[in-house]
Amino acid sequence: MKPEQIKAMEELGAKGARWGELWDVYLRAAFFMHGHVCGGMPLGFRAGVVALKALKSERELNMGKVVFVETGTGHAAGCFADGVQMATGCTFGKGLIERTGYGKWALVLVEKDTRRAVRVSVRPEVMEAAFKSPFLEMRRKGTPPTEVPLEIGVGLVENLFQKSDEQLFVVSEVFEYPLPEKPKPTFEIVKCQQCGEMVAANKVRFKEGQLLCIPCSGYGG
Ligand SMILES: [Zn+2]
Ligand SMILES: [Zn+2]
Repeated sequence: MKPEQIKAMEELGAKGARWGELWDVYLRAAFFMHGHVCGGMPLGFRAGVVALKALKSERELNMGKVVFVETGTGHAAGCFADGVQMATGCTFGKGLIERTGYGKWALVLVEKDTRRAVRVSVRPEVMEAAFKSPFLEMRRKGTPPTEVPLEIGVGLVENLFQKSDEQLFVVSEVFEYPLPEKPKPTFEIVKCQQCGEMVAANKVRFKEGQLLCIPCSGYGG
């Protein structure tokens, strides 16, 4: 990473302090995790902060919330989802984020216990402006995000951060989300009798008298 990119991420990350204690740390972490300065990630990050605020909830440290992010694959500005993940704390590893694949810049954040939920979507005019920005113009021509002149990305983010929540997002009323019950996670592991690797007990398959991992069993997941 170039020194000027590191400096830009440090400076932009510091702007997270406006949302309260530790938010500069989380925003800074989000930039470094994401890897480049673009508009999509910070927009998702702010949407996540707005959703937490609407539910009067904190960034998820445990397993208490889940987020459905409405971006898809194979389209520009999917970076939004990384921002949502970092801000809400509903991470991939904790199994708390799902992508609906709609190709939309919105999220639904759900509190598992109460099923209280809120949907936050980016205003159409914000997305239209983003897709006309010089950043997207260069991306459209095939320039990788890190090769777009840094000041263009930084300008995009600074512009986003000058706007109010209301200017950027539509926030739903809090509603009840029909979250299906999920089985409790397992804390047991088993050794696959073919490859010898350890497998979570609830993912083991039984075939011809053997306990096998999914790939060795040849069965689907
Ligand atoms: Zn990005
Ligand atoms: Zn195996």
